[in-house]
Amino acid sequence: MIGTVQKPMTEILDALEAYDQLVVVGCDGCAKACQTGGTDQVAEMARNLSQAGKTVLLEVTPERTCYMEKTRHALDPHVETLGRAQALLVLGCGGAAQITRQVSEDYGLTVPIKIGLNSIGHLDTLKGGVLALEQCQECGDCVLNETGGICPVTKCAKSLLNGPCGGSENGRCEVDPERDCAWVLIYNRIAALGELDRLLRFVEPKDYGKMSKPRTLYLAEGRVS
Ligand code: SF4
Ligand code: SF4
Repeated sequence: MIGTVQKPMTEILDALEAYDQLVVVGCDGCAKACQTGGTDQVAEMARNLSQAGKTVLLEVTPERTCYMEKTRHALDPHVETLGRAQALLVLGCGGAAQITRQVSEDYGLTVPIKIGLNSIGHLDTLKGGVLALEQCQECGDCVLNETGGICPVTKCAKSLLNGPCGGSENGRCEVDPERDCAWVLIYNRIAALGELDRLLRFVEPKDYGKMSKPRTLYLAEGRVS
């Protein structure tokens, strides 16, 4: 899921300074799981905005706001209200905010879209109120087949692909001793699988060109560019 944390309220109010009539758009997907954009957080944000002197015309929480059809489905009944809004505040990831903008433009509206959350990456599932480490940066050239299913691009502080940097101590990362060294994890995992000879194989250099943005997926051709 896409991890999100709420921006400080002062920053949100600063972004909304010029606007009084607002719509708050949440996300019942990842942002709900992160407790940043579900219906409860949308309601709480609406209360906070009201206390700050704003008028909240509508609270709406699409099932998954990064998914255009779901967002359209949730917003379609409210086009008239959206048309009266001076700004839309999205409690979702950056993708959710941009999809909301696209949908509003499709309605013929030119309304500012403001975001109330910071997106912090593709995270593991929720465990006891804590999201696990970032898992994947969608690099476009996945190396998990070579690394025991543990991503060095994301989990090694230096994104090293050819083994550890040498600074690891007692299995911990020299950059952040609170975290495991990704390459110790990778080595141990591959050893447990009985596949250590894998580490001796030559692997073609990773194509970081596939990380260049923005990327488009052409489904029919199975091609990304
Ligand atoms: S190698 Fe790239 S695609 Fe694979 S898990 Fe890591 S960041 Fe994601
Ligand atoms: S100690 Fe391990 S995880 Fe940390 S930067 Fe070095 S190789 Fe990467």
